[in-house]
Amino acid sequence: MSTTVSHWANNKPYPGTSNATAPVTNPATGQVTGQVALANVADARAVIDAAAAAFPAWRDTSLAKRTSILFRFRELLNERKGELAQIITAEHGKVLSDALGEISRGQEVVEFACGIPHLLKGGFTENASTKVDVFNIRQPLGPIGIISPFNFPAMVPMWFFPIAIAAGNTVVLKPSEKDPTASIWLAELWKEAGLPDGVFNVLQGDKTAVDELLTNPSIKSISFVGSTPIAQYVYATGTAAGKRVQALGGAKNHAIILPDADLDLAADAMVNAGFGSAGERCMAISVAVAVGDIADELVAKITERARTITTGDGTKNSDMGPLVTAAHRDKVASYVDAGEQAGATVVLDGRGVDADGGADGFWLGPTLFDNVTPDMSIYTDEIFGPVLSVVRVDSYDQALELINSNPYGNGTAIFTNDGGAARRFQNEVEVGMVGINVPIPVPMAYYSFGGWKASLFGDTHAHGTEGIHFFTRAKAITSRWLDPSHGGLNLGFPQNA
Ligand code: NAD
Repeated sequence: MSTTVSHWANNKPYPGTSNATAPVTNPATGQVTGQVALANVADARAVIDAAAAAFPAWRDTSLAKRTSILFRFRELLNERKGELAQIITAEHGKVLSDALGEISRGQEVVEFACGIPHLLKGGFTENASTKVDVFNIRQPLGPIGIISPFNFPAMVPMWFFPIAIAAGNTVVLKPSEKDPTASIWLAELWKEAGLPDGVFNVLQGDKTAVDELLTNPSIKSISFVGSTPIAQYVYATGTAAGKRVQALGGAKNHAIILPDADLDLAADAMVNAGFGSAGERCMAISVAVAVGDIADELVAKITERARTITTGDGTKNSDMGPLVTAAHRDKVASYVDAGEQAGATVVLDGRGVDADGGADGFWLGPTLFDNVTPDMSIYTDEIFGPVLSVVRVDSYDQALELINSNPYGNGTAIFTNDGGAARRFQNEVEVGMVGINVPIPVPMAYYSFGGWKASLFGDTHAHGTEGIHFFTRAKAITSRWLDPSHGGLNLGFPQNA
């Protein structure tokens, strides 16, 4: 008997009227474990209507009440995150410790949002003119839409919804159809935390659901995370419909290893950042740029470490899980074929890995290429799998030029013991998030997450103060309490007085 993951509206499951579904698979076994509902337009409108109906009361709910619900949500999440990690591993495939890691990063945004009374404080200017005061307030937008990718079914939605809800908005989350169950678990947790009906809703589906969110007049903003072509489409369509849009796209993240770097630490970092979550992270390092004559030694050290990685079912003691679907595994494997044919050196080959998991699981082991050149598809394309490419260059300037000429600009890192070189890099590199001896420089919740160039469309990054700004709009108020001294007619602009 297969279960169907449904929509969620008004604090309960909403089955919808569409009969369309898509299969949900356990990537470690290859078995279909359920179905997910695919909304039609009427279903999407019903869920959006629930968010719209809940907005007036939620925006008028006191900050004290809102924060008490947020604190409760945080406590419940912290107590029960093991359950959510199991769900993530069963549908995404990442190992349990990694699933717990993503939940912790999402929880940090909940903790940040608990400070909403402080974060929403406006400015006040007394006596801007005689007996005239000026102040500003930030108000919620209304019902907002979140469209999330498969690779972080808990963390990415949590980059947005804690802040949106804390600021007084209501939410429609459209999760990835590949791993939809985490969204329903989170919805149930909100209900248990005391969130009123209709404040947090989930719409399951594909392009039909997305298109309704992008064009429905009730939805005031869109926070999208996914691949670059869809991010571009979402940005163009949502802004044409008059919405605020932040659309985070794909990535091709480079790490530069300078000759003075500690090569053992750099090799550890390349393996962790290249193969963690089977490379299905938008901040994964997929290109290691070796500068000068360290390349042979660096490749040897990466190889020695990568060989020890165990690939298998994420619920067992494996280091690395499967890829998310058979189609994605096949696509990644086809890049490995293409890299080999293009003449790159296959140092480690993940095809045919002996995985500790189901015979039909979507396996591909760690793969390392050396002597990769910028014309090869393994270099130009975002592969989103456990494939690390080493590019050899002679100088820092050549390494920097590679990064700055890449269309993406999500994350990057430099490994060096030279403070001057690191400082030059942080200044010159055209990338939104930069690590200095830190391979995956994901900013803390109180800073903002976002890339540059083809990695983000729009001008606002996720969470931190940019998140507060995105989910609120500012109002400036000029106030005067009339008394007789204000009488008389004057049709010009007021002068300084
Ligand atoms: P995706 O673009 O295929 O899907 C993302 C969302 O868009 C899903 O909810 C999906 O249902 C929807 N969607 C897919 N095709 C659509 C279409 N034609 N029209 C409308 N909606 C559509 O991305 P994915 O495969 O789920 O996730 C992996 C991608 O996400 C990678 O490119 C990765 O780099 C990127 N990503 C980026 C960040 C970041 O912060 N920049 C973070 C995580 C993932």
